[in-house]
Amino acid sequence: MNDSPTDRVRALLPKIRDFLRAEVYALEADFLRRPFRELLPALGQCRARVKALGLWAPHLPDEYGGMGLSLSEFALVSEELGRTPLGHYVFNCQAPDIGNMEVLARHATPGQKEAYLRPLVRGEARSCFSMTEPEHAGSNPAWMSTTALKDGSEYVINGHKWFTSSAEGAAFAVVMAVTNPEAENRYRRASQIIVPTSTPGFRIVRNIPVMGDAGSDYASHAEVVYEDCRVPRSNLLGREGEGFLIAQERLGPGRVHHCMRWVGICERAFEMMCERAARRELSPGVPLASRQTVQEWVAEGRAEIDAARLLVLRTAAKIDAEGPAAAREDISLIKFFVAGVLQKVLDRAVQVHGAMGLTEDTVLSYWFRHERGARIYDGPDEVHKAVVARGILRKYGVKLSV
Ligand SMILES: Cc1cc2nc3c(=O)[nH]c(=O)nc-3n(C[C@H](O)[C@H](O)[C@H](O)COP(=O)(O)OP(=O)(O)OC[C@H]3O[C@@H](n4cnc5c(N)ncnc54)[C@H](O)[C@@H]3O)c2cc1C
Repeated sequence: MNDSPTDRVRALLPKIRDFLRAEVYALEADFLRRPFRELLPALGQCRARVKALGLWAPHLPDEYGGMGLSLSEFALVSEELGRTPLGHYVFNCQAPDIGNMEVLARHATPGQKEAYLRPLVRGEARSCFSMTEPEHAGSNPAWMSTTALKDGSEYVINGHKWFTSSAEGAAFAVVMAVTNPEAENRYRRASQIIVPTSTPGFRIVRNIPVMGDAGSDYASHAEVVYEDCRVPRSNLLGREGEGFLIAQERLGPGRVHHCMRWVGICERAFEMMCERAARRELSPGVPLASRQTVQEWVAEGRAEIDAARLLVLRTAAKIDAEGPAAAREDISLIKFFVAGVLQKVLDRAVQVHGAMGLTEDTVLSYWFRHERGARIYDGPDEVHKAVVARGILRKYGVKLSV
């Protein structure tokens, strides 16, 4: 018997799955119809049980109260949690908090950890990450106008951001701002700075309505302005000019987290599709599953989801062994490939459900709307395909600038 850590995690997975089925799936109907804040008491009870089971914040090292899992191990947990839109929240490893926790655990000073990381780990606070600006192409992250100028012991931040996810209700934002405009290397000009959302000058302009969603209080995507927003210089994360290095460190594992969450969504949608195709009769005794088109979707879906999982686990193993920089092209490959599989699997599941697929009676329409963004956030498909293709073509002597 191979008793690798991954095998130990595999033993945990049925426990997580059973918990989600018993305690969390039942909350989905309310999640789809009611404001998120109305679910907080029930979700709070679930979170307390997860803590009691010792499954809380599974992505974090032991010293911060996590489970000390490797990325490969957490990937398997993330798939399980991804089967419900509430899974990651109930286990306290939801984006963008998960990325902020990882960055703070690695780069924060002891004082920053006490003030910002600990409340996130305890599940008492939420946070956001504020980088993208409406005036500049987000796919070129080095291009930004937000500045943080030094004034005595403070930074004075001015700028305009949007798609700062979960800003509504967040205790603080991690903001990317230019601190070193003179740096020759354009990737050395910005820094990450912690800004409590109660700071004068931090203002949410609106929660941007996306894909028919007026902007909920949980999955909000905020437009934010920073107007002479002053924070102590001690709120700098890492060193000045290291904003991109820290962001890259965050985004590599972050893309593995997203991809395995998407694999979890795919598995649930696939199960729902098969279940519906088996039960829905086109005429007495003739199930939808008897149609060849549906059988094709079942076969193709199975192959695509299994391929997606294997590719992500291979990438996670490479990051565990060699670090995110060595896996740059693998990370780009899974980002566009798994996002594409997700779209196909969800689309087919909606189609098989017919009109019901468009209702809020199942979780499919929520995912169909919200996960169209998977091909855009954390880098659009085209950017990731270019990274993969250029890496391959370089071996054929083709020289391409970025
Ligand atoms: C749901 C969601 C959540 C998000 N959350 C956050 C967050 O929490 N914090 C944050 O800072 N940002 C967030 N973002 C912003 C996200 O990171 C950007 O949307 C993304 O980087 C793309 O930038 P853009 O929207 O400005 O598109 P643009 O850069 O304007 O690109 C537009 C389109 O052009 C094409 N394109 C771009 N570059 C290339 C290229 N090199 N070659 C060929 N085609 C190209 C692609 O089709 C792309 O979709 C979020 C976005 C979404 C949708």
